[in-house]
Amino acid sequence: MGDTLIRNARCVLTMDDGGTELAGVDIRVSGGVIAEIGRGLSGGEVIEASSCVVTPGLVNTHHHLYQTLTRAVPGGQDALLFGWLKTLYPIWAKFGPEEMFTSAQIGLAELALSGCSLTSDHLYLYPNGARLDDTIAAAREVGLRFHPTRGAMSIGESAGGLPPDALVEREAAILEDCIRVIDAFHDASEGAMVRVGVAPCSPFSVSRELMRDAALLARDKGVMLHTHLAENDEDIAYSQAQFGCRPGQYAEDLGWTGDDVWHAHCVKLDGAEIDLFARSGTGVAHCPCSNCRLGSGIAPVRAMRDAGVKVGLGVDGSASNDAASLIGEARQTMLLQRVSLGADAMSAREALRIATRGGAEVLGRHDCGQIAVGKRADIALWDVSGVESAGSWDVAALVLAGPTRVRHLLVEGRQVVRDGHLVTFNLDAAILKQNELARKLA
Ligand SMILES: [Zn+2]
Repeated sequence: MGDTLIRNARCVLTMDDGGTELAGVDIRVSGGVIAEIGRGLSGGEVIEASSCVVTPGLVNTHHHLYQTLTRAVPGGQDALLFGWLKTLYPIWAKFGPEEMFTSAQIGLAELALSGCSLTSDHLYLYPNGARLDDTIAAAREVGLRFHPTRGAMSIGESAGGLPPDALVEREAAILEDCIRVIDAFHDASEGAMVRVGVAPCSPFSVSRELMRDAALLARDKGVMLHTHLAENDEDIAYSQAQFGCRPGQYAEDLGWTGDDVWHAHCVKLDGAEIDLFARSGTGVAHCPCSNCRLGSGIAPVRAMRDAGVKVGLGVDGSASNDAASLIGEARQTMLLQRVSLGADAMSAREALRIATRGGAEVLGRHDCGQIAVGKRADIALWDVSGVESAGSWDVAALVLAGPTRVRHLLVEGRQVVRDGHLVTFNLDAAILKQNELARKLA
């Protein structure tokens, strides 16, 4: 792959420690990394950027890509979390490898168009021969940097759990498959395109023993841990009734805190739990649109950030959003904090920082999330010459006004979106396939 030269960027938001913003600079990309930033650079394929605001690629820290096949399902549109799950489980039970692959392609493409270069995924059901491998194949094709997590559910309805028995797995088989996918796909090296994590679905869908064993396995293999935690009031009540403690305590007791752990949602964390997360370096995937969609509440992101908790953004699964616009989540993050705390609770720039560097830190990717020499060349270019930006006085407009789609997106120096279109694979064919699969499921 040859060099690329991003020329004469209108403004570069570097997301370095000082929040440096550079006007009229060039960025030279070589060998998948940012090689040079300055004026009058030369060499490589040129991307004209005089009409573009340039940011690090956005980082998505929580998703269930497979759910792009179950957006706007009528029975789940207005339900609370547990009722919503019960509506969707029987539909998901009909999925197989083809559904996993195609829905992942669609979800990844949607993310890419909204500026995302690095995403995690949480796949916790494996019906009819589906495997984590199906989503990894999709990510390789689309070209995003990918952190798939091997999720799991082991407590079915007959054992007092929420999912139908057909969707749960034996715990020994879960751990075996975790080892298989880590050994097959996990890359710990700098610049890795795939890193695997271990991710039981939630404390209410697996046993205490599996939570503990998953943490031991992840530490043994040097991979990260992820799950859903403290999502809403029902979740807290369940924890207190079943485990006799709040979710933070449960997590800490089972080894689920530390800088190699991140939890999705955390809407209901209390002050002591926020302190625990800050002290232990535990990360949070904040999913504002999903929290709104399911009526879960407003996560205390301001308090978390002030306490020093690492926070990134997540679109969450498309069945509970139902969109997957990561730049949209940045805007929603800012708006939600303002709803609870006032107009000065969060700036547009801070929301964008959470969406980029914040997410990279949550996923342990210190090689991503900034525009700086030596960092990976994951770069989003936002054209601000269009209607959404007309009349804007400041780059904060990217969150306050738009655009909501990238003009160009580079991942590891490779162009994934060019002039607003995916160029790595045939998206139109994938959309047709996805709609055909959705019709069959209905
Ligand atoms: Zn989720």
